[in-house]
Amino acid sequence: MPDQQLPYSGFGSLAIHAGHEQDPRYAHLTPIYATSTFVYDEAEQGMRRFSGEEKGYIYSRWGNPTMDEAASKIAAMEGFALANGQPLPVKGYLQSSGMAAISALFMSTLKTGDKILSHYSLYGGSQELMDRLMPDFGISAIIADLRDPDKAEAALKADPAIRMIYIETPANPTLQCVDIEALTQLGKRYGKIIACDNTFATPYLQQPFKYGVDFVIHSTTKFLNGHGTSIGGVFLGRDIEFMEGKAYKVHKMLGGNSNPFDAFLLINGMKTLEVRMDRHCFNAMEVAKFFEGHKSVARVNYTGLASHPDQAITARQMRHPGAMLSIELKGGLQAGIQMMNRLRMCTRTVSLGTCDTLMCHPASMTHYSVPREKREQYGITDGLIRISVGMENIEDIIADINQALQ
Ligand SMILES: *Cc1c(COP(=O)(O)O)cnc(C)c1O
Repeated sequence: MPDQQLPYSGFGSLAIHAGHEQDPRYAHLTPIYATSTFVYDEAEQGMRRFSGEEKGYIYSRWGNPTMDEAASKIAAMEGFALANGQPLPVKGYLQSSGMAAISALFMSTLKTGDKILSHYSLYGGSQELMDRLMPDFGISAIIADLRDPDKAEAALKADPAIRMIYIETPANPTLQCVDIEALTQLGKRYGKIIACDNTFATPYLQQPFKYGVDFVIHSTTKFLNGHGTSIGGVFLGRDIEFMEGKAYKVHKMLGGNSNPFDAFLLINGMKTLEVRMDRHCFNAMEVAKFFEGHKSVARVNYTGLASHPDQAITARQMRHPGAMLSIELKGGLQAGIQMMNRLRMCTRTVSLGTCDTLMCHPASMTHYSVPREKREQYGITDGLIRISVGMENIEDIIADINQALQ
């Protein structure tokens, strides 16, 4: 159904226009509002602003026009066409990093004694936050195989202290996926909060709010920014009253806000999200198919391939299977190091979601100091290579990895 309120109907148009307000000085793009505070015409106006009687900016930790445009754009994308074809209202706060967004989520929704139910494949930082820091505040995590609904339900039944189901899908490094709709329905039956890290997918490929998820977080550092120019995050919710109340207070008090420079870069990056993701995903599928037939490759983890156990879930809840994949080289650690050293165009680095193809060998890089048995529990074998497939011409990407595998 075409949107009645908006003068456009497509996601790409929304990504370009949403969140923008006419600048009072008629700048085409919202400027970088590099200012810590905002001024008042008279003392009474200050009173009205502080009391909330008059809308207006006060202090950039609380809110800032450049940061707000970026947050509103992401909120619009996450809520795009979800209420019978109309926008679902979503409110978000731009944060200094994905981790700051997760911290703001936890601090605004959990208290001492609460538990988080989550799964094995999580971003390392999220895992560490739950394992090492949250217990100091009396909040702990229970990890279960949430791909199996029976196990998820058994975990909920076994421990009524679980307050939140926290999911990340697709997730590192094997691209495991969980069924957002099934877990949300289950969680709702037990009265739990459901939060989803949507970083790998972006709102163009997957909209968790569609299934009734309460909160969505992103590391905007990745595909949303899309060019690797800044670290950032966003914390979004569909309960507007909660977001404008408790969540806003936490956002102000924790001080994990972003800044106008990074927000400006993020806004520019997000305008091309649709075309970028289409190209990223097209290339990823071609790269996955190339690896699947290669003699040096023992296994390809890509949810677009029939060989991936989560292909059906991905097809149901994502527009395309994404741009992330991993492979296992038959030759183990040495083969991994050799492949990394031979790359001529693809970039040897961690992180993901930039224009160039990024390759990382966890056993020699991010997880070098983690003992092998522990690594393998998380699916990080010696020959595992993770790839964020970029937007170069596909022939060039395949030529580079092909020569690196010789
Ligand atoms: C990178 C990442 C994070 C953390 O984001 P930062 O911006 O690095 O703080 C969280 N979740 C996922 C899935 C990520 O890839």
